[in-house]
Amino acid sequence: MTTATAIIDISTLVTNDPSLGEGPLGLLQNAAVVIDGDRIVWVGESSKAPATDNQVDAGGRALLPGFVDSHSHLVFAGDRTAEFNARMSGRPYSAGGIRTTVAATRAASDQDLEENVARYVREARRQGTTTLEIKSGYGLTSQDEARSLEVASAFTDEVTYLGAHVVPPEFADDPAAYVDLVTGPMLDLCAPHARWIDVFCEQGAFDGDQARTILTAGAQRGLTPRVHANQLTQGPGVQLAVELGAASADHCTHLSDADVDALAQGDTVATLLPGAEFSTRSRYPDARRLLDAGVTVALSPDCNPGSSFTSSMSFCVALAVREMGMTPDEAVWAATAGGARALRRTDVGRVAPGARADLTLLDAPSPVHLAYRPGVPLAAAVWHGGTLV
Ligand SMILES: [Zn+2]
Repeated sequence: MTTATAIIDISTLVTNDPSLGEGPLGLLQNAAVVIDGDRIVWVGESSKAPATDNQVDAGGRALLPGFVDSHSHLVFAGDRTAEFNARMSGRPYSAGGIRTTVAATRAASDQDLEENVARYVREARRQGTTTLEIKSGYGLTSQDEARSLEVASAFTDEVTYLGAHVVPPEFADDPAAYVDLVTGPMLDLCAPHARWIDVFCEQGAFDGDQARTILTAGAQRGLTPRVHANQLTQGPGVQLAVELGAASADHCTHLSDADVDALAQGDTVATLLPGAEFSTRSRYPDARRLLDAGVTVALSPDCNPGSSFTSSMSFCVALAVREMGMTPDEAVWAATAGGARALRRTDVGRVAPGARADLTLLDAPSPVHLAYRPGVPLAAAVWHGGTLV
C-alpha cells in the first residue's frame, strides 16, 4: 500500500455501516481507516492497520464521514442583512424576499457569481461538508437560470434546477405564463446542466397543481424531483413529493398525520432545515414524530442569503438535538448518511471499503460533541476525495 494513507488512533469512528460496528452508526472504537486515491480501502482496529507509506495520527479523536449537504442555494449575489435585521425586530418571513436576491443575481457578472459560490463551498468544506447540492433559483429567466446551473456545475455534480422558486415580478399578473416558461423554453436550456428539479410548493410561491406540472415536465426530461414542501403552511407539497417519487421533501415543518404516513410508506426522505426556523424565529419541525413513524430523516443548513444564511452542518446537528427531539446519534446519521439518501448516493455518507474518501476529523473524542459543544468549530481536518482540504 505504497500510495495509501492510514489514519490511525481514532477514538470513535462513525462508519454508518452496522455490519462494521455498533448500532445504526456502526461505531468502532480505537479504529483506523486507510485511504488510497479517492477511495477508502480498509477500515478496522487501529492495532491491525496495514503498513502504509503515509500515516496520520488522529490522536484519540473522532472521525466521521464528511457531511452530506443535500440542500443549498449558493448561486446568488447581494445581501439581505437589512431584511434579517427587520425580521429579528418583529416582521414575519414571507416568500417574497427571494425577489430581492433575484434582482441582485441578474445584475451580477459570471465572475462575481462564481467567486461567491467558491467562497461558500470553501466555507462549508472547512467545516466538514464534503458533498454539496447546489440549486439555481435566483435567475428566473431562461438565461439566468441556465447560467446559475453552469456556475453550480463547476463545483458539484448535485445540481438542481429551481426555476420554480418564486414567480418573478414581471410575471406577477400571469403566473400561468411563468409555469409555461419553466416547463418549456427554460427547461430546454436548463435540463442539460442539472440532475434534479425542485419547486417551492407554498402559499405565495407555487400551488400543488403548478408544482405537479413543473415536476412532471422535469421528470420527462430526466430530472428527478425534490420539493420545498410544507415549510410555512400544511400544503400539498409532501404528499405530492411522495406520489411523484421525489428523492426528498425538504422543510416538512407543518405536517398532518397523513403527510407523516405518506413519508413513512414512500421512498422520499424528509430533509429538515432547522437553520430556516432559527433564522426566521419560527417553530421547528418535529423530527421525533417523523423518526418514530419510521421516516428517513436528513439534515441540511439550507444555506441561502434570505432565510438561513449558515453553511454549518454542526450547528444544524446541535439544533436538531436541542430543539427537534433527535438523539445525537440520529442527528449525526441524518447529517451524513441521511443526506446521502436524500441525494440517492451510496458512495458518500459512510466509511467503508469502496466508499469515497470523504472524512471529517473532529477536535473531540466523540461525535456527540457536535451537539454537546454547540457553536464550536470542531472540524480539525477534512479529506475530500482523499485530498486534505
Ligand atoms: Zn431551500
